[in-house]
Amino acid sequence: MTLQDNIEKGLGAIVDEDSATTPKGSSTRAVHGGTKRRKAFNSLNTPIVQTATYTFGDTQELIDFMERKTWGDGDDREEYGRYGNPTVSAVERKLAALDSGEDAVLYASGMSAVTSLLLSVLPSGAHIVMTDDCYRRTRQFCLTFLKRLGIETTVVHMGDYEAMEAAIIPKKTRFLISESPTNPYLRTANLEQIARLGKQYRVLTMIDSTFATPINQRPLEWGIDFVVHSATKYLSGHNDLLAGVVTGRADRIKGLRDARGVLGGIVDPQNAYLLDRGIKTLGVRVGQQNKTALAAAQFLESHPRIERVWYPGLESHPDHAIAAAQMSGFGGVVSFEVAGDLKTTSRFIDRLKIPYIAPSLGGVESLIEQPALMSYYEKTTEERLALGIKDNLVRFAIGIEDTDDILNDLEQALAGI
Ligand SMILES: *Cc1c(COP(=O)(O)O)cnc(C)c1O
Repeated sequence: MTLQDNIEKGLGAIVDEDSATTPKGSSTRAVHGGTKRRKAFNSLNTPIVQTATYTFGDTQELIDFMERKTWGDGDDREEYGRYGNPTVSAVERKLAALDSGEDAVLYASGMSAVTSLLLSVLPSGAHIVMTDDCYRRTRQFCLTFLKRLGIETTVVHMGDYEAMEAAIIPKKTRFLISESPTNPYLRTANLEQIARLGKQYRVLTMIDSTFATPINQRPLEWGIDFVVHSATKYLSGHNDLLAGVVTGRADRIKGLRDARGVLGGIVDPQNAYLLDRGIKTLGVRVGQQNKTALAAAQFLESHPRIERVWYPGLESHPDHAIAAAQMSGFGGVVSFEVAGDLKTTSRFIDRLKIPYIAPSLGGVESLIEQPALMSYYEKTTEERLALGIKDNLVRFAIGIEDTDDILNDLEQALAGI
């Protein structure tokens, strides 16, 4: 199935009945997508509806609501804050429009999105196939928490689609999970291949698209069933909140929303507002981050004190061809190996003046980390190597500072080691 078939089938439909314009481009969607043109009190911005519960005028109003809900038609008002909130719903409609999904469901963090999706959908005794080089907590959730519930996970090497197909156990495997691009090596999954395997074996597919954002890649358009983002990163964009989202087909998202009412991971209305505010500038932010990251990757690749650069926009990256076919930009994260040991690499990081040393990515401020000392501190060099994490590896999450300033900062820091 081609991208065009999927768009024509309706997956590309923009949920935007209310808007006077039908936004097509990603930046227009980020500002207007899914947004009602007229809002309460004629406010231009989506109001923050700061309430834990909602009132009924009298018993008859309550009974009418319950009757409509029983008939599956009760969505014109909210009942209780764990089930829904108008500020949260407005951001969900925008995220659905951005990802070319029919609907979206927001959670209190990216991990809440991942864990709620899997807990909501998987039956006991199910089996998952997952690619390696994935977010450490997602892997931990599948390999320890879900295992305890009798759900087994097979991890296959990213890019090995024969191994992925061979790992599928017919009727038992329920989910194919991958990230794209991955952390920290920016490996890029072949979305069409994964969607095809999912359809062939009737297995649901999920892509964690956090590193790409809907500006650079929209996996639903390639036939993927669920897209997950940690909205903490690029979507919010200002390192000031945690949130997560799942986008996909309306009936499936409705199921997740119902389950969220039980699991409890809804985002709060203040954070939903801040997220909406952040999303409006997603297009310009990601555009700048794509540009600086490519320039930084090229600069680093030509520098004698850098051993290797991992960036899907470089021809040297193992997934460059697939990334170029699927993505309209290569993202704001560049990983690289410094010529030297753990200490030399730390010295380089300490000499940088612009990026902060911090985990996370996707905000306006550049952040840098040495994975060996951040996510994998408690492991030995050998254990880290077994997980593919070298001591001299650096993950640089580029912000929206001027490209030249970033390049100059890298140059002066490398000159001093
Ligand atoms: C950060 C991140 C998560 C987890 O998101 P939180 O919002 O921190 O819970 C999941 N996947 C990827 C790829 C991430 O970068």
